[in-house]
Amino acid sequence: MAARRATAVSLACLLAAGVIPPFPPRPASAAATGCAPEAAPLAHPPMALTAAHAPGMHGPGLHGPGMHGAGVHGSAGYTPGMRASAARTEARAFETHGSAARTRGSGPVVSEHWHGPVPRRPRSPRPEDVAKVMAELRERLAGVTPPSQIIVPTRVHLISRGAVRQVSDQAVQAQIDTLNAAYAGGFGGVDTGVRFRLDRISVKEHAAWFTDPIGHEKAMKSALHEGGAGTLNLYIAQLSELMLGFASYPYWYAGAPALDGVVIDWRTLPGGAMSDYNKGFTGVHEIGHWLGLFHTFENGCEEPGDGIDDTPREAKPTEACPQDKDTCVAHAGKDPMHNYMDYAHDRCMWEFTPGQATRMHEMWAAYRETPAVLYSLPIYDM
Ligand SMILES: [Zn+2]
Repeated sequence: MAARRATAVSLACLLAAGVIPPFPPRPASAAATGCAPEAAPLAHPPMALTAAHAPGMHGPGLHGPGMHGAGVHGSAGYTPGMRASAARTEARAFETHGSAARTRGSGPVVSEHWHGPVPRRPRSPRPEDVAKVMAELRERLAGVTPPSQIIVPTRVHLISRGAVRQVSDQAVQAQIDTLNAAYAGGFGGVDTGVRFRLDRISVKEHAAWFTDPIGHEKAMKSALHEGGAGTLNLYIAQLSELMLGFASYPYWYAGAPALDGVVIDWRTLPGGAMSDYNKGFTGVHEIGHWLGLFHTFENGCEEPGDGIDDTPREAKPTEACPQDKDTCVAHAGKDPMHNYMDYAHDRCMWEFTPGQATRMHEMWAAYRETPAVLYSLPIYDM
């Protein structure tokens, strides 16, 4: 098994990875500064970019939940086995116009890169942030019945470093299948009632976006984002060994609709090269944020935690695959270390709770299921 070395990273590397906010300007990517290894070399001949895979040219391979339609399967796959020392880090939301990133295992290193005009001091979500989100949610849900089933139309944007694709259509389909299995409770936990329908895979050749999707987030998303509040835009590019993905929260949508979506590292897809993080659960985790979930370790042992009753408090993120863990002994329940919204290795995370499922449906009703979204559902070719 590959050893991890992500717990000790230099300030320079954190800066380079965008974990500590340089605002402005943003620095080069971590990969470009030698802080993290470059992408895994492909052991097999990579897939060439063909006309069928050009941006916008790939037809809508329409998929219902659990269905695998024709038209989105390619031929090339992954090169598993790259040694990676990754930490699951991602942007998190707690205000309207910012996003934050945190590196697991390196302490409370939290940063923000702001889309709005006013830079703010980096900080973690505080109890009042969670309380504010909860209060607004309750307000918006007055008189509203959340849906029992949610089918999320999903647009996948593959960012390619060059004319050679890093990710096959087959790998994308495997990621969608993993999402649907995880959200159905197929690996453990509850069936959340959320499913993902792959409507389109498009490929964009752009080396800078591929290697630094954080620094180019606004340009990339502004150019590629499709659909409304209820459409999942899933961008697949290369982040770093320290940051596997980042997401926007539902209540950000109104303030920055074009920036809505989820960005994940291509090596985290099922069978990918990111050791310990290659079962596709980075996507599951980040999309959990997109659907309105906080981390299970939010606010540690302190009220209101993550704002969900059936996820026991935990003082800090879970690392790797511990046998057992109870970091908030004054509170009932051991740490929810197998929850998708914690930071365990992929092989040790397998569940959402009933409370998280309910929260996702509430968030959907409050922020994503607008009439415009409902009317746009049958439209696949925007
Ligand atoms: Zn997260």
